[in-house]
Amino acid sequence: MRILLVDDDEAIAVALATALESQHYVVDVANDGEKALEFVDAFPYDLLLLDVMLPKLDGITLCQKLRGCGLKVPILLLTARDGSTDKVKGLDAGADDYLIKPFDREELLARIRTLLRRGSSPLLPVLEWNDLCLAPSTCEVTYKNQPLNLTPTEYRLLELFLRNNRRVFSSGDLIEHLWSFDNPPSAETVRSHIKGLRMKLRASGSTADLIETVYGLGYRLKSPSSKKSGGETIQSPVPNAQFRSEATLTALAGVWERFKKSVMNQVEILQQCATAAENKTLSDRLLKQATVEAHKLSGLLGTIGFTDGSELSRQIEHLLRNGDPQDASSADRLQELVVALHQVLQQPLSQQKLTAVGVANYDRALVRRGAKNIMPLSEPQLNERPLILIVDGDLQLSEQLRQEAAGLGMGVEVATNLSAARHRISQLHPDAILLELSFPTTGENGLTLLEELTASAPQLPIIVFTVLGDFSDRLEVARLGARAFLHKPMPPVQVLATVTQVLQQEQAGAAKILVVDDDPQILTLLGILLEPWGMKLTTLKDPRQFWETLENVLPDLLVLDVEMPHLNGIELCQVVRNDPAWGGLPILFLTAHNDPNTVQKVFTAGADDFVTKPIVGPELVTRIVIRLERVRLLRQLAETDPLTRLANRTKLTSHLGKSLHQTQRTNLPLCFAILDLDNFKQINDRYGHGVGDSVLRWVGGLLLRSFRSSEDIVARWGGEEFVVGMYGMKKAAGVERLTDVLAILRQETFTSPNGAEFGITFSAGVAQYPDDGSDLQALYRSADAALYQAKTSGRNKVLSAS
Ligand code: GH3
Ligand code: MG
Ligand code: MG
Ligand code: MG
Repeated sequence: MRILLVDDDEAIAVALATALESQHYVVDVANDGEKALEFVDAFPYDLLLLDVMLPKLDGITLCQKLRGCGLKVPILLLTARDGSTDKVKGLDAGADDYLIKPFDREELLARIRTLLRRGSSPLLPVLEWNDLCLAPSTCEVTYKNQPLNLTPTEYRLLELFLRNNRRVFSSGDLIEHLWSFDNPPSAETVRSHIKGLRMKLRASGSTADLIETVYGLGYRLKSPSSKKSGGETIQSPVPNAQFRSEATLTALAGVWERFKKSVMNQVEILQQCATAAENKTLSDRLLKQATVEAHKLSGLLGTIGFTDGSELSRQIEHLLRNGDPQDASSADRLQELVVALHQVLQQPLSQQKLTAVGVANYDRALVRRGAKNIMPLSEPQLNERPLILIVDGDLQLSEQLRQEAAGLGMGVEVATNLSAARHRISQLHPDAILLELSFPTTGENGLTLLEELTASAPQLPIIVFTVLGDFSDRLEVARLGARAFLHKPMPPVQVLATVTQVLQQEQAGAAKILVVDDDPQILTLLGILLEPWGMKLTTLKDPRQFWETLENVLPDLLVLDVEMPHLNGIELCQVVRNDPAWGGLPILFLTAHNDPNTVQKVFTAGADDFVTKPIVGPELVTRIVIRLERVRLLRQLAETDPLTRLANRTKLTSHLGKSLHQTQRTNLPLCFAILDLDNFKQINDRYGHGVGDSVLRWVGGLLLRSFRSSEDIVARWGGEEFVVGMYGMKKAAGVERLTDVLAILRQETFTSPNGAEFGITFSAGVAQYPDDGSDLQALYRSADAALYQAKTSGRNKVLSAS
C-alpha cells in the first residue's frame, strides 16, 4: 500500500512516515501542495494524508483539484485544532475523513485502515514474510521497507511464494502457475528467474536465503522456524508437538504397533552380536545376520519416525561392516550403541524426533485437506463453481440457502416441483441436488424423482432435506441411495456444510497407487502409512506381473523400487514411459542409492521424483500428495472440453488406449460410436453461434446422462462431433442405446432468444473392438465410415459399421 503524506512540517512528516512505515505502508512525502500534485501524477497511491496548511497550494484546494480530475483515492485531512470551518470545507472539497492535530498515532492508523478498506478497488492485504513485503495493489515489493526492483516474472514468483508460504513448488508447479499454457519456459529458465530473485533479495540486505531449495522437491519460502542455528549443518529437530498432528502420530503409531515385535527381535540379534563380540565368540554367521538386521532397522525405524533409532542402527551397521567388532574398543562401542537403541525404542513414538521438513510438510498437507480427503480439490480458480439444484416448494428457504451458498462459492438453482426439477436437471447438469420429499401443493412425492435419478444418473449426488422424518422415510431414502438425509428445520450453514462434504467426496475419489517393491516389509509399511490418507494402495512384490497389474489397477501414481529381482525399477519405468498412454503417469522411485549415477539413471528413465530409503514416512506422503495434486490440476485443465465440460479428445484417446489393452485381455467387446449433429451449420447460421453453443452443451449433457457410468466414456471429439465408448458392449447393443438417445433428442424443442423453436438430430456410426479395428485409429475409421453412410442415407439415424 502506498501512501502520499503531504506536510510541510518536517518533524511531523518524519514522525508520521515512520509510524506508517512501521505498518509496512510505502510512504512518499511531499512538503508542498504542488509537489503533491506531481507525485499523484507519477505514482498510484492508495491513500493521501493532507495537511491543510501548506505552502504553494493549500490542502483544501489540492483536494478539490484532485477530485476535479476524478481521482478516487481516499483522502484524510489533517487539520489544526479549532479550524472547524476547515473541516467542513475539507469534507465539501471531497476529503473522506479528517483528524485534528495533535492526534493519537493509533487512531490515525485505525482510520487509515478503515479508509483503505473502503477504497474503490478491492484492496488485497499486503503480503509479508519477515522483512519482505509485497503489496499486490501497487505491485510494490520491499525488503526492510527498501523497494526491490523486480522483473515482472520475479515479482510473480515472489507473490506466489508469499501467497502460499508453506508450500513447496517444483519448477513444473511454477510453470503451471505463472506462465501461460502455450508458452511454457524450460525448467532451466525457471531456475534462472529464481536465481535472479534470490540475488536481488540478497542485495537488498536479506542475509539468509529467503527462498529455500527443498532438495528433490522444489522451492519455497524459508520459514523462520527452519532456520539453522549457529553453523549447524544438519536439519535441527523440530520441538515435539509443534508440528505434529494427531493423524501423523496415529498413522505412525499404527505402524509401530505392527512392527514392534519384529523390531524387538531384530534388536535382540544385535544384542546377541554385541555380547558375542565382547566375549570374542562372534561367529561369521551371527555377524552377517546382525549386519543385515541393522541395515533393515535403519530403514524401517526412520520410516516409522524413530529418527534416532535409525541413526543408531546405521552406526551399528557401519561398525559391523567396517573393521573388527571384536576388538575391545569396537565391542564397547557396539554395546553402547545397542543399549542406546534399546532405550530409544522404549520411548513412546510421540517423543521421537522427526525431521523438520518431512513433518512440517506432512502436517501442512494434513491440515489442508483433512486426513481422509487425500485427493486434493484443485485450486479454487480452476474449479468451476459447483451448481446445486434445490428442489423444494419453499422459496423463502431456497433463497436463504442461495445466499449461504453464494458465500461458499456455489451456485444455486431452484425448482419448486418435480417436473420443473426434471427439466432443470436435464438443462443444467447440476453437481448436486438438494431434494425435499414433500410437495403439499402438487401432492407429488420427491421419492419418485430420487428413484428416477438413482437409476438414470447414479453418480449425481442427492441430499434429501425434508420435513418428513419418519423412520420409514429415512429407510426408503437410504435404500434409494441418497447421499445424506437432513431433517428440517436445520440452519442453512449446516445444510451447506453437508453439501460441501458430499461434493468433496464426489470430487475426491480415492487416489490409486501402485507400489512395486520386493521387500514385503516396505509394502506393508506403505499400506499403513498411506491408508489414513484415503489412498487406495495396490502392492506388487513380483515385477514380472507388472504390466498386467498396471492395466488392472490403472493407478494415479506409481511407486517403484530400484533394485528388484528379475526386472529392476528403472527398466519398468522405461517400459511405462515407452507407452504413450502412460506418459502422464507420475512415477516416484524408492531407492537406497542416492549416488549421482543412480539418480541420473532414474530421471533419465522418466521418473518424476525419488525418495531415498530409509523412507521418512511423512516425507514420502508429502511427495505423493504433491505429485497427485499436480497431476490432478493438469489433468483437469488438459482433459476437459471447456464448452461442454465433457472429456476432450486427449482424455478419450488416453482412456480408450488404456482400456483397449484391458479389453484385449478380458476378451470383452468394446463399442465405439461417433455422433455428428445434423445440419448444425444451419443452426449457427440461423440463430447465431451462442445458440449453437447451448445446443452443443445440451447434447453433451444428454449424452452424459445417457452414458453416465463407469463402463462408458463420453467425449467431445471436436466441433459438433461426440464420441462414446461403451465397455463390455457389442455394437448391436450400442446402436440400440444410441437410437434411444436419438429418440430423446428428437423430442426436444429448443428455443432461440427471439422465440424461434427448432429441433435437432444427429447421425452416428458405431464400431466394435476388435472386429472393426484393432486400435483406436482403425476403430475410428470404421465408425466414421458408418457415420458417413448415415449422413448420405438421410441423416437422423444410427448405423453400425459393416
Ligand atoms: P452435417 O449434417 O453434414 O454434419 O452438416 P453440418 O452443418 O453439421 O456439418 P459441417 O461440418 O458442414 O458444419 C459443422 C458446423 O459446426 C460448422 C461449425 O460452425 C459448427 N461448429 C463447430 N464447432 C462449434 C462450436 O464450438 N460452437 C458452435 N456454435 N458451432 C460449432
Ligand atoms: Mg458435419
Ligand atoms: Mg454435423
Ligand atoms: Mg462434423
